[in-house]
Amino acid sequence: MTVLDASKATEYLKDYKSKDGLDIKSLIDSANFGGLTYNDFLILPRLIDFPASNVNLETKLTKKISLKSPLLSAPMDTVTEEQMAIHMSLLGGIGILHHNCTADDQAEMVKKVKKYENGFINDPVVIAPEVTVGEVKKLKEVLGFTTFPVTENGQVGGKLVGIITSRDVQFHDDDKSTVKEVMTKAADLITGKKGIKLDEGNALLRKSKKGKLPIVDEEGNFVSLISLTDLQKNQSYPLASKSYHSKQLLCGASIGTLQADRERLAKLVDAGVDVVVIDSSNGSSLFQIEMLKYIKETYPELQVVAGNVVTREQAALLIEAGADALKIGMGSGSICITQEVMACGRPQGTAVYAVSEFANKFGIPTIADGGIGNIGHISKALALGASCVMMGGLLAGTSETPGEYFYRDGKRLKSYRGMGSIAAMQQTSSNANASTSRYFSEADKVLVAQGVSGSVVDKGSISKFIPYLYNGLQHSLQDIGIQSIGELREKVYEGEVRFEFRTASAQLEGGVHGLHSYEKTLHN
Ligand code: GDP
Ligand code: GDP
Ligand code: 5GP
Repeated sequence: MTVLDASKATEYLKDYKSKDGLDIKSLIDSANFGGLTYNDFLILPRLIDFPASNVNLETKLTKKISLKSPLLSAPMDTVTEEQMAIHMSLLGGIGILHHNCTADDQAEMVKKVKKYENGFINDPVVIAPEVTVGEVKKLKEVLGFTTFPVTENGQVGGKLVGIITSRDVQFHDDDKSTVKEVMTKAADLITGKKGIKLDEGNALLRKSKKGKLPIVDEEGNFVSLISLTDLQKNQSYPLASKSYHSKQLLCGASIGTLQADRERLAKLVDAGVDVVVIDSSNGSSLFQIEMLKYIKETYPELQVVAGNVVTREQAALLIEAGADALKIGMGSGSICITQEVMACGRPQGTAVYAVSEFANKFGIPTIADGGIGNIGHISKALALGASCVMMGGLLAGTSETPGEYFYRDGKRLKSYRGMGSIAAMQQTSSNANASTSRYFSEADKVLVAQGVSGSVVDKGSISKFIPYLYNGLQHSLQDIGIQSIGELREKVYEGEVRFEFRTASAQLEGGVHGLHSYEKTLHN
């Protein structure tokens, strides 16, 4: 055999009829023996000519909301309450607050997320000059912050007479003293004029080296407040998902499709929710279509994620009814027994491809929900056309999830349970019906479980875990020679990014093997 000229190796490639691997459509079509899961295939590597830090993970959550990172926490009562939602948003993703609680409790959580960071704090807690030092100390315990503008009538809009901060009350032993005796008086305060731009206010704050800048109108009436802490938060969390004008964190919340959910929704909207997720195991129901239409008529600006769906036929119904994004997955969740009990569902790889390919034609982003067990699964979901992934089990056990740690078998654990588990369905409160209605079971005498209740090991804080996922994802896309999620979508559909099936033995080969024992530490 003639030996070819090595300096022309890339040119000789043209003699081959096709590239190595399969394009995405061939991968899906040739799996006609059944649907694909994330573990059934791999993505082939391509040329790397950029550093991983160049990979931009910005993506669409819905038609109108973009995120810097494609990561969502699931609306489950062992995963997302305000702590998770705040930190997911700070780290570039978004948390979806569960609704297995009263509407008031859920709206309260939304408020906490929205209040966590601000540009102008437009409705700060303001007090009157006659309030006592003791009362201020109590306010601190309840609210978590310690600076209060003081106005004549104790309200926003009243004449600003001073400001009281932790330093004024911390070492003041006489709790009966009034605020006006210990506050910094208005005459000594640096203030901003109403109409000042946020960056001008920030500059004043930095120059004055004060912690707060009260904003007042021409008559000296108090209008709003800017806090240095918020500037620091902005610096510490460059990826944070925030509203453009208010600089408040973006917050999502789930709802059901019952009549009571319309009242719940009104409270969530009042609290400032940015996106609602209609939570149903099978999104293609008349209940959901009605709900979607109702939301779009009543709150045209509110972004709505509909779902879950796994087929194009289901997706078409929700796209037509006005969905701003679709959530994909039925039976792929780690706590889920739907496929076993209901004989219904679809392997997640095929579901994500089929629905995303269809929805993306209408400019509707999709969220791959369930079965995300590692960074590779996230890359694969994105390669199959999803814009974001939703995680339950992967985030369960982190310190930001609700619930206490406990010890069993020498391990530090936290509970993680399916929303269709008997335990979650039984906790459903009188005006919530979250869990039961997700599975259309609110009228059932005998509850049929579609999920299990279990525990997971302590994973530490998501402030380490999410950056691990983010950096890992950048490296994964770098291996595929891709610098953004948009480019990934294009190169997959053009057939540039190639795939290959992964047989059972390939899966064994791809895992750790042949060792007597080992430790799997995922990040430092
Ligand atoms: P960024 O500086 O990259 O975050 O760009 P942005 O458009 O978010 O910020 C525009 C201006 O608003 C800059 O002066 C930021 O420092 C400021 N800014 C951003 N977030 C906050 C915030 O939460 N609070 C305050 N006070 N200022 C903020
Ligand atoms: P403080 O100096 O103890 O009041 O608190 P920090 O400035 O350290 O933090 C207050 C945080 O709570 C900031 O991120 C504010 O944007 C936020 N916040 C939300 N609502 C209010 C409010 O009504 N008053 C104050 N002081 N902060 C608020
Ligand atoms: P995970 O990330 O743990 O694999 O899956 C989380 C997803 O499973 C959730 O976002 C939700 O869509 C789904 N899910 C949550 N609870 C249940 C349940 O009890 N049964 C089923 N079938 N799915 C569930």
